[in-house]
Amino acid sequence: MINLRLLWTWDHCTQWTAARAGVHDYGASNEFSGTAEDFVREYSLLLRWCGRHGIDGVVVWGLLRDGHGGVEAARRLCEVADQAGVKLLAGVGLNAYGGVYYEGDSEWSLNNHLRKHPELHAVRANGQRHICHVPGNSPQPFHHACPSRPENLAYCLDSLRWLMETVSVHGVQVESGDTHVCECRLCRERRQHPVSALSWDDMALFYGPAAEAVGSVRPDATVVLETYSHPEPVTDGTVPGFGGGSPPSVAQCLAQFPRRAYVQWVADHFCAPRRSAPWTARAPAGFAGNIMRAHLATWWMGRGDEVAVDWLAQLAQQSLAHGFNGLSIFGEKSPFRTGCELNYLALADYGSAANPGADLESFLTRVAAPLLGGPERAAEFLRLARLIGAPEELERAAAQARRHAAQLDGRPAGRWTWLAWYLSRWLYDAQG
Ligand SMILES: [Zn+2]
Repeated sequence: MINLRLLWTWDHCTQWTAARAGVHDYGASNEFSGTAEDFVREYSLLLRWCGRHGIDGVVVWGLLRDGHGGVEAARRLCEVADQAGVKLLAGVGLNAYGGVYYEGDSEWSLNNHLRKHPELHAVRANGQRHICHVPGNSPQPFHHACPSRPENLAYCLDSLRWLMETVSVHGVQVESGDTHVCECRLCRERRQHPVSALSWDDMALFYGPAAEAVGSVRPDATVVLETYSHPEPVTDGTVPGFGGGSPPSVAQCLAQFPRRAYVQWVADHFCAPRRSAPWTARAPAGFAGNIMRAHLATWWMGRGDEVAVDWLAQLAQQSLAHGFNGLSIFGEKSPFRTGCELNYLALADYGSAANPGADLESFLTRVAAPLLGGPERAAEFLRLARLIGAPEELERAAAQARRHAAQLDGRPAGRWTWLAWYLSRWLYDAQG
């Protein structure tokens, strides 16, 4: 069974009202253009929808910013989450991604900590401070802390305890950083294993104490540990970066991870639509659970708002077959966008008591059909939506979606109107 279903978000991309200016389609570490009221409204809608539809938790990156109300706004969201019966998990970069307080005049902002203590900054091989600037969709630079400096570990643990004492989130998803690692002498001598853009030794060093710090304030907190990887063994001597498999050394590092936590893995290259490698590995035993996360239906690696209920069914089936009990997908956009709505509902359904085998037909018949005007229409919705990849069929597909919309009323008609519009965008671009 799947017993932890998460929606993953960045604050600056999260739009749960149907119409709102100033949000990003996708990306990381952007500015938040809006007010505290905007932030609270968007996430309140998201949290309440999750509570009504069986999604267990929401991960928020950028939870704490001066620009959208800081601690006060985050506390209000925790109350909303409590009322909705949904976990609010803070996304926390331990050595990168801003730390506990993503942006603002707070001592718990990692950037402020490093500004105050430049000697604690991570460095590159050339001795320069490690400041990663990802071109395109992540305009704010990532300042990295050196994980080998005990001052940084102590700061990280203090900041996690502060977070749990001050904001009462239900838990955290922590990351050690996947945009290259510190290459100072201390780090090079400490690490037992080779690195790529990420380091399993760094994860092993921080994740245990981090989980302990969180649990010391809130023993029932949900702790999710990001690995940036899939557990599939890699035996060619390489050390993959984000989304790759696991070299033999991973077992030693994983053995140091705290057992009370969920370990989070990346499915993207091991499941539809990108499957480029076989998936034989089982989830490691002994943890609270193992979560498979995929970049489905987002502009990261794919197409935003895309109907992905069939791919998600395959992901859920593979996850169940290999001992995983958690799933996570992006949750930034409103269910007004029918692709997102269907994906979120499928996330809630697959691996549940109503659909233990994550069967697509069962989902379409029980869940999607009433929303789309019947079981035949539900199947056709999925078929037509997938034709964004077939330019020669787009015109007919959009016309068919318009016909269904015209034959229906209310939200079912609205959902077909969304599909007609969605297909029309691809058609417009295909026609140049
Ligand atoms: Zn270092």
